[in-house]
Amino acid sequence: MRNLFFIFCIALSAYSNVFSQNIQTPSEFLGYDIGTQFSRHHQVIDYIKAISEALPNQVKLEQYGSTYERRPLYLAYVSSESNMKNLETIRENNLKNTGLLEGTANDGEVAIVWLSYNVHGNEASSTEAAMLTLYKLLTERKDLLENTVVIIDPCVNPDGRDRYVNWYNETASQPYDIDQQASEHSEPWPGGRPNHYLFDLNRDWAWATQVESASRLKVYNKWMPHIHVDFHEQGINEPYYFAPAAEPFHEVISDWQRDFQTQIGKNHAKYFDAEGWLFFTRERFDLFYPSYGDTYPTYMGAIGMTYEQGGHGMAGLGILNDEGHVLTLVERLTHHTVTGISTVEMASKNAKTLNTEFAKFFDNSNLKYKSYVLKGNEDHLNSLKSLLNKHDIDFENANGTKVSGYDYKTGKQGSMTVDANTLVVHTNQPKGKMVKVLFEPNAKLSDSLTYDITAWSVPYAYGLDAIASTSKVSSSKSQDQERNQILKKAYGYVSKWNSLKDAQFLGELLKKDFKVRFTEKPFSSNGSNFERGSLIITHSDNKHIDNFVGTLNNIAQEHSQPLTQINSGFSQSTPDIGSPDIKLINKQKVAILSGEGTSSLSYGAIWHFFEQQLHYPLTSINTDDFGRTNLSKFNVLIMPSGYYGSVLNESNMKNLKDWVRSGGKVIAIDGALRSFAGKDGFSLKYKASEGGNDNDNLTPYADREREYANYLITGAIFKTKVDHTHPMAFGYKDHYFTLKLGSSAYSLLDSGYNVAHLDNTKVFSGFAGKQALSNLNNTLVFGEERMGSGSFIYFVDNTLFRSFWENGKLFLANAVFFVNNNAYEL
Ligand SMILES: [Zn+2]
Repeated sequence: MRNLFFIFCIALSAYSNVFSQNIQTPSEFLGYDIGTQFSRHHQVIDYIKAISEALPNQVKLEQYGSTYERRPLYLAYVSSESNMKNLETIRENNLKNTGLLEGTANDGEVAIVWLSYNVHGNEASSTEAAMLTLYKLLTERKDLLENTVVIIDPCVNPDGRDRYVNWYNETASQPYDIDQQASEHSEPWPGGRPNHYLFDLNRDWAWATQVESASRLKVYNKWMPHIHVDFHEQGINEPYYFAPAAEPFHEVISDWQRDFQTQIGKNHAKYFDAEGWLFFTRERFDLFYPSYGDTYPTYMGAIGMTYEQGGHGMAGLGILNDEGHVLTLVERLTHHTVTGISTVEMASKNAKTLNTEFAKFFDNSNLKYKSYVLKGNEDHLNSLKSLLNKHDIDFENANGTKVSGYDYKTGKQGSMTVDANTLVVHTNQPKGKMVKVLFEPNAKLSDSLTYDITAWSVPYAYGLDAIASTSKVSSSKSQDQERNQILKKAYGYVSKWNSLKDAQFLGELLKKDFKVRFTEKPFSSNGSNFERGSLIITHSDNKHIDNFVGTLNNIAQEHSQPLTQINSGFSQSTPDIGSPDIKLINKQKVAILSGEGTSSLSYGAIWHFFEQQLHYPLTSINTDDFGRTNLSKFNVLIMPSGYYGSVLNESNMKNLKDWVRSGGKVIAIDGALRSFAGKDGFSLKYKASEGGNDNDNLTPYADREREYANYLITGAIFKTKVDHTHPMAFGYKDHYFTLKLGSSAYSLLDSGYNVAHLDNTKVFSGFAGKQALSNLNNTLVFGEERMGSGSFIYFVDNTLFRSFWENGKLFLANAVFFVNNNAYEL
């Protein structure tokens, strides 16, 4: 009887599949009611695959990449059968509408909505909601698909999500414990929020340093959706947040974009009011920094929005919050499902208007600056070009000899000579507003209280001389030239040293056991001049390398690294190659602290730098194990930003100092400096705040937050003075634009080297409060102090922050390989 019933059920479901497109609900497929367990990433993908197999004419699944931990990244395209037949036509028509594809667009009648879930891995309700939203769009709300294409990214950050979900599944009680103190509500370091390299993917859209972002942008730019939603979670005591966003809004945001997100918010409010659910709008989550899942799409013409559900890594399957409410995963995912569907509903109701208004955004004939002109270091120009390519932004090369306009170096009107290698980026192109956002010298801030950094201007980040011109600069397309060199037998070869690319080349040589020297003084040989830091690879140092010239030639080819040949150790101007000023570079063994106490973002950025950029080995040591670490196995110890109070107890501090005295090098980044400032034996000191405010006790309650902004620096760009005769600054000029992320101020070192310091407090871009500024003059930015044979190296400013400040990266390579170079093997 039971078997018969079973067969009957299967027959029934097959019947309904054919005739009523009956598909499995997520609960039926997963084998548990949705929201009663966290689904692992592969289960989510399996569900969407099953749906796409059941309804191949309505759901198309596309793998657009893989994460660092080899999890697949998928998009599901969902629409009506007739739209799906014309999917490519709809996509192309949309691009024609923007001018990104040549040809005349038809009146667009289909709205394109992109829903991104779970960019923060431990904000885990949204991926569950993605499954339910997909199901509802194909069943009870399939009417919406008649004039919408919905692109669902069920999980933007699978590595982070599974890190969270696997931890939760192994930790949680059954049934779950709603007590906030239970271990299932306290994630261990580093938490599930970031991706594999511990980057916050919701700060990475513009820089696309991570494989997830870079892969996503390729598809995003092929589609250019009209609406993009990024689903998030906030603290367990917060209600739901949805659009409209908070001030400041970037000035490129159109009235239509402002207005339509308000309309969408009101539609959500209708559903939330009907259920009596709490929500808020407009008070947080501004639209300014371009690297978010709401701002990036907004600057690409879309209605870009962040939705935030109360929950987050603390919430688990259920938790008693401070308001006495048991917040459950079921509730969290239900809210996200409602806003997702409501968004598609608004797209469907306004599909035609969305198309026409979207097209208007791409008229960029009225932007103030017509062209940005950049010149300088060839490697930096090339890495900028690859950034522009990620965003499908066009660039050309200058034709003339001179341009004038806003000069980034002085912050005033000025002029610059140009040549055929000078890069020109025009704003009158479809992506013109994004060009403006990325390049403009000083982004206009309607309100200083923003959620994020207020400065990122690309010419500073890439260390390029630049002019912003209000008239269009003459330019033409140019072809990149292939570099092809064949090395001939010689006394030795010299490589320049002024970019990360040069450091990659050095790293490769060291890994292959080449002996490489660097010069601490400029010299000339064979009619060529070589700057400080230039690498020298001689035949006599490398007799142990098989086929020395051929092997070096191959490595140089792979790295497109130009080498200059020298024919004698006798230089035209000293030092000679055998001079003590030309030093053998040690094959450094580098360790880094990770784990509890370190900032996961700072650690992750350094980890990524060594593994994915420098390609040089790095040993990670957990702070828990620091007391029993044998430091003598390493030459360099990097301390990411963090709180090392309990790690550097008296005995660990003594061991660390002993190791430094015997030749070790500590590289301390940002917050790590607190471990040494003002401590016995260190010349590093906090700079005490001068002045102070006169009447803070009279500031009204309602104004305190704003008053506090006076003490803040929320990411601002300053011009530092650089001692480029110090090995830490080899490859740099006498000034360097730094991105200051906070107001911490350290005095200049009395005994030690002040490699870069602030000798003025002009803000070139971004926001810095009055009080914070008053304390910054004559403060340290980068420095070195010696202790015995070793060194402490200080990075007050974190040059690897989000890995986008391209021009700061060489400082770290210099610190590792050049500073206080001890050429000894371990
Ligand atoms: Zn989030």
